[in-house]
Amino acid sequence: MPDHDTHQGQPHILVLGGNFAGLAAAQDVRRLCGDTVRITLINRRDYLLFIPNIPADVFANRNPADHQIVPIRPILKKSDVTFIQAEIGAVDVDAKSVTFVPNERSGEESEALTYDYLVIALGNRLSFDRIEGFAEYGHTVSDLYHGEKLRKYLYDGGYKGGPVAIGSARFHQGNGAAGLAPYPGGSIPNALSACEGPPLELAMSMATWMGEQKTGGPEQITIFTPGETIAEDAGLEIVKKFLGLAGGMGMKYKNNVQDIKKLTATTIEFANGETIDAELKILLPDWVAHDFLKGLPISDDQGFIITDLLMRNPKYPNVFAAGDCAAVTVPKLGAIGHQEAEIVAMQIAKDLGHLSAEKADQKLEPVVMCIGDMGAGKAFYIRSNVWFGGKDEVLEIGRVPYQLKMRYRDMFIANSGRIPAIGLVLAQFAAEHIKV
Ligand SMILES: Cc1cc2nc3c(=O)[nH]c(=O)nc-3n(C[C@H](O)[C@H](O)[C@H](O)COP(=O)(O)OP(=O)(O)OC[C@H]3O[C@@H](n4cnc5c(N)ncnc54)[C@H](O)[C@@H]3O)c2cc1C
Repeated sequence: MPDHDTHQGQPHILVLGGNFAGLAAAQDVRRLCGDTVRITLINRRDYLLFIPNIPADVFANRNPADHQIVPIRPILKKSDVTFIQAEIGAVDVDAKSVTFVPNERSGEESEALTYDYLVIALGNRLSFDRIEGFAEYGHTVSDLYHGEKLRKYLYDGGYKGGPVAIGSARFHQGNGAAGLAPYPGGSIPNALSACEGPPLELAMSMATWMGEQKTGGPEQITIFTPGETIAEDAGLEIVKKFLGLAGGMGMKYKNNVQDIKKLTATTIEFANGETIDAELKILLPDWVAHDFLKGLPISDDQGFIITDLLMRNPKYPNVFAAGDCAAVTVPKLGAIGHQEAEIVAMQIAKDLGHLSAEKADQKLEPVVMCIGDMGAGKAFYIRSNVWFGGKDEVLEIGRVPYQLKMRYRDMFIANSGRIPAIGLVLAQFAAEHIKV
């Protein structure tokens, strides 16, 4: 058995997943519960992938593997969290048990761990395998491999200056968040794409890159969305401004494409029957639940984990979810996962008598916070909650948001994966009040 027994007899908190949501949840539980609990985190790799900054590296001709990896073993050690590098294969919520296979070497044995509290923060499958022709003709920026592949394609002469299509496949949201009202009169809306900040960011960065490289310009780019409106989660006013900007630059925009059907060397076919020319296709896929989470008594009809707005499963109150795998996380944003991880920790601390209900019961009020690189040292900053029934809708464009995007990652690493609350407040203030 792995060495996780230093706090024998204490409540065991088992965290599944060690990227943004899982790491934050483990750290927050330790912070709020002190040394009264035993915490174990299982993740298939021993580093955090800083996904949001991969696109900026690609367009600046940097290999993302050199910058966007944050080793988690030392971070978890600081919080006295036992780390197990393993592939999780099954969750049994009745037996309170999780089955995993250590994966440092092939052929390792299957083991099981029991828990008192389970935090599921396993993200989703990004299902590029469901886009016909993606392997041969598609590009993306969602991991180190694909980021580096696109960087080489752009900088080593692969791209010949032809039309570019940027957009998302259709997202199939489950029914697990139906009826939840995060703001008075609001709801968790039904999204037709999982996360549309990246396509906006990619379109702007690509346009700047084309100008710098003198290979065409924005009029070569088509941004598309499966839904009625791209990045609807940012709020309609922001989208209007954004589309005005993109249209003014000459970019084309296609909505209601329904889904990506097929890629060929020179085209992209959509489910609505349209086909457009595209030499370069930079795509975001459907976010699909992991197979082993489907059909569980804690999962919705698509396999996303059902929770209330305190991130607790209603049928199994010792099971929590945070981040992309939670049914309420719409859109799939790391920033929302962070909010949720903190709520999870407060709930566990409340259950264990370390926090009053008054302090702990702070329901999720999702806020879309997104900083997108636009190239040439500029970025856009979005802070909005109108999609969920809130009243805030802020868009800023300039050099300050770019600096914030870059510094946020540096701060994240320097603070072992934590951004002090004051840092976030200052970042918000700087983005919204300092114009350069
Ligand atoms: C190109 C791009 C740009 C983005 N930009 C932004 C942005 O600017 N701002 C923002 O807030 N969000 C952004 N996002 C979204 C953000 O990356 C995700 O919302 C975030 O990564 C979700 O965090 P998570 O911890 O819930 O899940 P993940 O990051 O997906 O982490 C899940 C973890 O679980 C592990 N895991 C999964 N299955 C298993 C298994 N069976 N066994 C063991 N371990 C397993 C994985 O290895 C991983 O470590 C972007 C996404 C993309 C693709």
